[in-house]
Amino acid sequence: MTDASSQPKAAQDAVSDSVRGYDVVIVGGGIVGLSLACELAGSEFSVAVVERNELKAISENQPDVRVSAINRFALSRPALAEAWQSELAQRTCMYDRMFVWDLTGAGQIAFDSAELGISNLGAIVENNVLQKMLLDVVLKADNINYLCPQEITSIEYRSTAEHSIITLATGEKLSAELLVGADGLRSRVREIADIPHSRKDYKQQGLVCNVTTSESHQNTAWQCFMPSGPLAFLPLYDGSSSIVWSLDDVTDAATEGASSAAEKMALDDEAFKQALAEASEFKLGEILTLSQRYLFPLTHGHASDYIKPGLALIGDAAHNIHPLAGQGANLGIADAATLADIIIAAKKAGRQWSSQHTLAKYQRQRKGANQLMEASMTGFKELFGNNNAMVSEIRNAGLSLVDNLPALKYRVIRQALGV
Ligand SMILES: Cc1cc2nc3c(=O)[nH]c(=O)nc-3n(C[C@H](O)[C@H](O)[C@H](O)COP(=O)(O)OP(=O)(O)OC[C@H]3O[C@@H](n4cnc5c(N)ncnc54)[C@H](O)[C@@H]3O)c2cc1C
Repeated sequence: MTDASSQPKAAQDAVSDSVRGYDVVIVGGGIVGLSLACELAGSEFSVAVVERNELKAISENQPDVRVSAINRFALSRPALAEAWQSELAQRTCMYDRMFVWDLTGAGQIAFDSAELGISNLGAIVENNVLQKMLLDVVLKADNINYLCPQEITSIEYRSTAEHSIITLATGEKLSAELLVGADGLRSRVREIADIPHSRKDYKQQGLVCNVTTSESHQNTAWQCFMPSGPLAFLPLYDGSSSIVWSLDDVTDAATEGASSAAEKMALDDEAFKQALAEASEFKLGEILTLSQRYLFPLTHGHASDYIKPGLALIGDAAHNIHPLAGQGANLGIADAATLADIIIAAKKAGRQWSSQHTLAKYQRQRKGANQLMEASMTGFKELFGNNNAMVSEIRNAGLSLVDNLPALKYRVIRQALGV
């Protein structure tokens, strides 16, 4: 158990005897909540992170099935760079190429870090490994208390001057000048703050598993677009690959060769390996071994506001997108970095760091970028999901055109790298 609640470290101004007072309380210790905590490590803020679940154990023998492609912007942040000093960084795969192609045509595009004059395009890392690397930084910080596993019984949102009150199942109460919702898609903080959230279902599932293949992954992220959506092979540190395959909830009779997520799940291992190798046009040869398969519903959604006085939403609590470009966690890490920069600067300048006025800067800097990415992902999904012959021609021509126009190609890759 990682219960650090018994080791108070921060210099806390108790609001009353029974309430532990913090400058910032982060609800949710996923990748994004822990990224914010890392950003605030060693700062003047007293911080608590409240997480409901213990971290998923890291298996010594095999990589976990939930992995993320972390982009160069995220990796360039000092907070993540410190996390990467961990021995666990050996379990990350720095990838230097990305190859994208259209299954229904001849369009393709390749990105190479050498061509861009950089050492890599990013890192593929298991989510629980990344969380552990971030958590180790958090646990070393004198100004942060990590409270886990802790169930929250109530959250009373109050504005900056009054401080919000978070009551834990133990009866303990925490007060927060800034309450941060990093509690994912079904954010309770967002709900309690009464912030509207639009959510749309793609009527798709992401089928996730790990495979070994007869050909090397060559430290390349492979992504094939098919009518149902993309199939990605992400390279892992041990030579295996992580698969994310977007599949429709129901079979579309109009789409040749398409089948639903449930049908793919129902295949026995040998039939699934064959289907996967065929779908990827044997780019990595035969599929040799296969882990257990899991499905994740694919949705996109956005909170109408990211902030209120004394409150901010970050990561999936504020926005979630289709995983086709592997950007969800990256956007959340960028939210955390921006919010931290803004409140640290405001506090240093002696301004009201948790006021609506200060937090509005965070919303201005992040909301437009996140909406743009959400719209791009939906546009991509629709472009590649269209069976119309003319759309298919345009799509293929477009991919190859971008591949042959260096300036445009680098603009696309710079957006994906977050630089
Ligand atoms: C199949 C798939 C593949 C993906 N691949 C990529 C990729 O390659 N790259 C990428 O950047 N993104 C990827 N994403 C998106 C990425 O996984 C998410 O955007 C990211 O994990 C969101 O992180 P988060 O910390 O905001 O939310 P979450 O991961 O949902 O974390 C929220 C945390 O809050 C905790 N919590 C919730 N409620 C409470 C409560 N009341 N009290 C205490 N704790 C609470 C939860 O236990 C959890 O730990 C992918 C998504 C999917 C579905």
